[in-house]
Amino acid sequence: MTWGPGIEPAPGPRNSRDKTFTLDLEGRAVPLRVRRNARARRLVLTIDTAAGGVVVTVPNRVAVRDGVELARSKAGWILDCLDALPPRTPFADGAVVPVLGVGHRVRHCPGRRGTVWREDGEIVVAGRPEHLARRLTDWLRRTARREIAARVADKAARLGRTPGRVTIRDTRSRWGSCSANGDLSFSWRLVMMPEAVLDYVVAHEVAHLAYRGHGPRFWGAVARLTDDPDGARAWIRRHGESMHRYG
Ligand SMILES: [Zn+2]
Repeated sequence: MTWGPGIEPAPGPRNSRDKTFTLDLEGRAVPLRVRRNARARRLVLTIDTAAGGVVVTVPNRVAVRDGVELARSKAGWILDCLDALPPRTPFADGAVVPVLGVGHRVRHCPGRRGTVWREDGEIVVAGRPEHLARRLTDWLRRTARREIAARVADKAARLGRTPGRVTIRDTRSRWGSCSANGDLSFSWRLVMMPEAVLDYVVAHEVAHLAYRGHGPRFWGAVARLTDDPDGARAWIRRHGESMHRYG
């Protein structure tokens, strides 16, 4: 039986056929999800950075318990990976959340009117404490939409193309996508990345309005639409996954 460790790609969306377990690894409770994948040719063990757990992908002919056994047998590797993850930052009073790469402290103001606003390097959230996380997420989504939509319009005009609809989602596997009919979709978590990185992801998807593949002409268009594609791609490789640790 072969296995392949990996932190990327993201372990894929949750599926109703997934089986979930809690592993006891050297006294630590570690969530395990076993996913069946008809296209998988071998067992693959992946760290789920957002959940702080493990995902094992099993081909159809392999039993779920073999997946669980694989995870148990790699306890040392799994615990090392989990220890190396950046800490989670739940959306709560006092948390530091980046907006366009700049850290902002979250301040809960139950007595104030309004919803969410930025003030002196802080994000102020009014209302009841149980609504804070949702309100902050909604505000980040709206901010993402504003930043992204303006850039889509500007870059598409520079390319001489007309974009379709712009959708903001919370996708695990991709930061952005461009459909065949020109609709563009982006993760709201891009708004936490440095401005140059968000700008690159928008440039990348807008360039697909003109070139479908990732050939030299595509990359030439990306380079005309944003300042530092290589730097942005390096940043995403290094830090992108950690954006899922917020909220
Ligand atoms: Zn692409």
